[in-house]
Amino acid sequence: MQAAQDTVVTFHYSVRDDAGQDIDTSRDNGQPLSVLIGHRNIITGVEKALLGREAGDRFEVTVPPADGYGERREGFTQRVPKKYFPEPGRLHVGQSVVLNVSGGGQRAVTVLKIGSSVVDVDLNPPLAGKVLQFDIEVIDVRAATPEELAHHHVHAAGAHAH
Ligand code: ZN
Repeated sequence: MQAAQDTVVTFHYSVRDDAGQDIDTSRDNGQPLSVLIGHRNIITGVEKALLGREAGDRFEVTVPPADGYGERREGFTQRVPKKYFPEPGRLHVGQSVVLNVSGGGQRAVTVLKIGSSVVDVDLNPPLAGKVLQFDIEVIDVRAATPEELAHHHVHAAGAHAH
């Protein structure tokens, strides 16, 4: 079966930035990623590259910021009281921290400067502005279930824990 709109694709990936620095991989813990295609679950550059692929296909794709995490916005910073950080005593410059945001949800930010009571953070997604090089291996492609389509995400086999 070929990957297409409303299919579930399971794949391993490794991603590097354009300087060759390893960023992330699914291969270390042996757990491939499963995504429902066509429901905005992954960056468009990877989704487009998966279309038409089948189990066993292995390929590389270069994803520019426009198809990835967007361009970096200069000056996209905010001053946040230290008390909102999960471990305020252990912060360091350059660290990536996930903060709870007002209205619910979470956001990954990067620490720029640490004061006595406030912290300046960069709100750009950590991978914004980067050209990403993915190495992808398709493990499985299947049709999505009606329930998955209604929820716009993948359900693990036999489990629906939400
Ligand atoms: Zn669901």
